[in-house]
Order: sequence, then structure tokens, then C-alpha cells
Amino acid sequence: MKVICPRCESPGVTQMHAGMEDGKVLWRVWHCKDCAYTWRDSEPAESVDPKMRPAWAQMKGVDFDSLRQVIPPARKPT
Ligand SMILES: [Zn+2]
Repeated sequence: MKVICPRCESPGVTQMHAGMEDGKVLWRVWHCKDCAYTWRDSEPAESVDPKMRPAWAQMKGVDFDSLRQVIPPARKPT
């Protein structure tokens, strides 16, 4: 199974967690190293399928370095 990021369609995703029951994986949490999107693969298709997500929410081809920083980095302790 090839997993890509639902938001930027990068293949650079990492599995962060798996929900297990009776030895079976029920869901997984994935994280994209490129756009920092994190999702659970059991979420609705409108959240996890790039073809079903609204176009305004997609970031394929976006230069992330050109985006404004919304949350400034934490200050270092003085
Ligand atoms: Zn991404």
C-alpha cells in the first residue's frame, strides 16, 4: 500500500501510530514531513482522499518556504 499525503500528495509520510485490537490494525495515524499534515486513515474520504478534498485545502505544488509563518517559533529561554 503506497501512502501519500492527502494535502500535498508527497510520498514523504511516516506512520506515527496504529490503533490495534485483538492483534489487528484498525487504523493508523500518518504525518507528512513536507506540509506537516497529520491524519488518521479511518477519517472520511473528504479528509484523506486528495480527489475528494476541497481544492482550496490542497497544497500540491505549493512552495512551502514562500508561505507566511502563522505561528512564530517559540522564544528561547533567557
Ligand atoms: Zn503533505
